[in-house]
Amino acid sequence: MSLPLVFYTIAMDTIPIKTRSKQEFIDISREVCALLQKKGVREGLCCVYVPHTTAAVTINENADPSVRRDIINKLLMLIPREGDYTHGEGNSDAHIKSTLVGVSICIPISDGKPALGTWQGIFFCEFDGPRQREVFVQIIKSE
Ligand code: ZN
Repeated sequence: MSLPLVFYTIAMDTIPIKTRSKQEFIDISREVCALLQKKGVREGLCCVYVPHTTAAVTINENADPSVRRDIINKLLMLIPREGDYTHGEGNSDAHIKSTLVGVSICIPISDGKPALGTWQGIFFCEFDGPRQREVFVQIIKSE
């Protein structure tokens, strides 16, 4: 008979991010990996959450930078900056992109690393920069 798995959460961490453009994807895979290493987590789940309404987080290809450029350009085409918006702040397109892309992801942790595919990276998605941003990381460790 095997013992039941034990799960417990580790205190939330914050990754500060300084964005430099109106719209950009910033690869934060290294920062997330470093956090798992620092916490000594081998197996579990890692939740990456963006506490902003005009930014998002996603996982996609980090080998060829043209992929993230294409995503940004297509989003810009689908949701232009100027439009029939009612929000007075002038950044409705960024709010819509944030909702479409999403503000959280959950990644399995395997052998001390996020279980990303060969070509995958974790991206912070800025849609209304440049700004000082942050990403929250909550880890659920299993033993
Ligand atoms: Zn707004």
